[in-house]
Amino acid sequence: MAISSISKNILSLFLRKVCPACGSRLDGSQLLCPWCELRLDRCSEIHWSSTGSSFSNPSDHLETGVAGVPVYSAVMYAGVPGEIVVRLKFNGEKHLAKAAAGMIMQYSIRLPDPGDILVPVPAGRKRKRERGYNQAALITAKLASMSGCRSLDILKKDDGPSQVGLSPSQRRQNVAGIFQMKGRCRVPDGVDIWLVDDVATTCSTIDSAAGVLLDSGALRVTGLTLAYRKRTADSIVQR
Ligand SMILES: [Zn+2]
Repeated sequence: MAISSISKNILSLFLRKVCPACGSRLDGSQLLCPWCELRLDRCSEIHWSSTGSSFSNPSDHLETGVAGVPVYSAVMYAGVPGEIVVRLKFNGEKHLAKAAAGMIMQYSIRLPDPGDILVPVPAGRKRKRERGYNQAALITAKLASMSGCRSLDILKKDDGPSQVGLSPSQRRQNVAGIFQMKGRCRVPDGVDIWLVDDVATTCSTIDSAAGVLLDSGALRVTGLTLAYRKRTADSIVQR
């Protein structure tokens, strides 16, 4: 066997595509292996950021003039998406941001249009220092290249107390006022802004961050997360 074909074969072992959730081999352009795909639940409901309530038609809320923004989540948190989020967030497996963005592209019932602006929900400085990165920003960067959108990291977050074990109303109080525009950053005129995060639970984080963008002149803000976690499953560590 010629040396070039041997090295090609060795190379193909390293380049072989594997399922990001379980590591089994993938064929073609699959995002996940069939087994992991079976363990996914699409999120078919939209959630309203100011109340966390679910609905199916965004215009119902928009017409009432109630404060808040719609939040779209691609999949339910339980199972494979939750495992991917935990590994991305706590195990330093930054490569999983690509799988997370791919899942958003494949499963979300609504997606940003090319030319829209994606803004990652920021992490506090302390949290970012501990982890070395903000997983929402990693997902946003991948999502921008997959969707033809522009990513703008224009928000910053104060180091607030953890959301662990708080009730929905306590969570809202906890994140009120912790987001601001970064330095001299401005909201671009006349564009749709999508706030991107890994997980939505009460939607209070997106509500608070969206409020800053709207106060800064954004025409329209929509939340977009990989996963929606039901409020009863309250045990995992929050950002
Ligand atoms: Zn798998």
